[in-house]
Order: sequence, then C-alpha cells, then structure tokens
Amino acid sequence: MNLCDIKNIKQIMSVFGIKFHKEFGQNFLTNKMVVEDIAEYCCDGKSNTILEIGPGIGTLTVELAERYENVISLEIDKGLIPVLSYTLDEYNNVKVVNEDVMKTDLEALLAPYFEGGVSVCANLPYYITTPILMKLLESKLPFDYITIMIQSEVADRLCAKAGSKDCGAITAVLSYYGEAEKLFTVNADNFMPPPKVNSSVVRIKLYKDKPCKPKSEDVFFKVIKAAFEQRRKTLLNALSCGFSEIPKEKLAEIIEKAGHRPDIRGEKLDVKMFCELSDLIFELKQQS
Ligand code: SAM
Repeated sequence: MNLCDIKNIKQIMSVFGIKFHKEFGQNFLTNKMVVEDIAEYCCDGKSNTILEIGPGIGTLTVELAERYENVISLEIDKGLIPVLSYTLDEYNNVKVVNEDVMKTDLEALLAPYFEGGVSVCANLPYYITTPILMKLLESKLPFDYITIMIQSEVADRLCAKAGSKDCGAITAVLSYYGEAEKLFTVNADNFMPPPKVNSSVVRIKLYKDKPCKPKSEDVFFKVIKAAFEQRRKTLLNALSCGFSEIPKEKLAEIIEKAGHRPDIRGEKLDVKMFCELSDLIFELKQQS
C-alpha cells in the first residue's frame, strides 16, 4: 500500500479511529520520492541498522526496511502502534517500540547493533527538534550519521559557517560532534496536515575523532552558551556575564592570550577557538 497517498492515509486513520495529534508534531509525509530519498541517503550506505524516531503510520519506516538490515522505530503515540503492526506486517526486520525518545535508554536499546553500524533517520516533530538532537549527540553513542527532517530555519542554523549570521550556539556545539550538510528542502504541501513552515533534510556525519579535546566539556559548553546568549555584546562582556566569578581583567587577559582582540564578538569564533578559550578559563579556575 502506498502510505504517501492521501486517500490511503485518510482510510487508515478512519479504520483505526485515529486523529492527528498536534501536540506530538504529527505531519505525515505524502511525497514518495522525498521519502525514498531520505531513506536512500540517510547513512551513505555505512550502517546496517537505522534508529527511526517517530514512524507515524510507517511511511519512512517501509523505505528504511527495504534498504537496511534492521530498523528500530520509537513512537510515542500508542494509538499508532496497531496501525504500524498493520502497515509493517510484511517486514520482520522492523522493531517498533512505543516510547518517548527523550525517556528511552538508547544505549541499552541499540547495544546489539553498533558493531554493524547504526545511524539515525527521522522526520522529527518540530516541537522537540533541538532536545532530541542534543540527546542524540550528548549520548556519545557511536552513530555513523544522524539524518533529520527539520524546520528549514533550524536547518540553516545547523549548517551555518562559523562567523555567519545564521550561526548560533547550536551551530558551534554541533560542529564539535560532526559535520552537517543540507541535503534538500521540502515544501509544506508535501505533508498532511501541512505545517506552517518549510522543512529541510540535514545529514550530520559524526566525527570519530573530534576536532578538539576541551579540558572540561562543561566549561567549553558554558563558554559557547555565554558567547551566543549575549551575541550583541563583545566576547569580553558576554563572558563576564557567563563567568561572573572571574574578574573582567582576567577574562580580558585570557581573550588576548587566545589571540583575539578584546572587542571581538563570540559569534566570530569557530569550535577550535572556543576550545582554546575554554581551556584557558578552565586552567584559571583550577588555579584559584
Ligand atoms: N515518520 C512519519 C512521516 O514522515 O510521515 C511521521 C513524522 S511526524 C513529523 C513525527 C512523529 O514523531 C509522529 O509520529 C509523532 O507521534 C512522533 N513523536 C513525537 N514526539 C515523539 C517522541 N518524543 N518520541 C517518539 N516519537 C515522537
């Protein structure tokens, strides 16, 4: 059955007596070519297993099951579980788990599969895109790729170059974990119901070796957060808000020691520069 066909979606929903849940960000894909492309390019052929977040009625799941050895799909909405049993009936390589991804122990769930490579592929619910992405990155699990369909505006942020206007804290944090590339954009009329914004598919290739090794990740992330929270301020003023326990003159010295002018703005720094700066702050904190 073509799960992208609007008539079929309506019929499934009526037979199973289900409605779209806005609170779960349910916008189902209706363009088969888009679904095929996401499944095809999500891991560059590197992984045997795909973790899917939010299978909905199984539209993308079917295409993943056709291409990969194992598909593990996490769906929060228990009303969709009987639908998925029906639409995925012929695929014995799919495991559907009725759980909230934010509460799932991903390490325990995926441990048996990492040897053959695991990637994430999802048309993510917009309401929770960043928390899900952060959970995946912070899990430190050895994913090959994370490929997600998200709001275009967020996609632009993830893929922005350091120092550009689209760059934000998430851009800097992401560039510590991997390299993001925008694969393509999908207009709102390719979904049912159509969302208010356009979407883009972003593929993140996770680094096996990170571009830098901060002495303290806590300080490193705190520096990035401070720099972007006050992005209109100079780096010095932004850091003195984020690290109020350190005298401003000391922070000025550190910025200079890291090779920057005191009036530079934090958004101009790349991930390695954030790392150097955070190491100097960490060392100072250790001394005091
Ligand atoms: N994959 C389907 C597609 O492309 O047509 C549906 C995508 S829809 C944008 C997002 C899906 O994520 C919905 O099925 C929704 O119920 C599910 N979802 C929302 N929040 C979730 C969470 N915290 N954990 C797991 N699934 C979630």
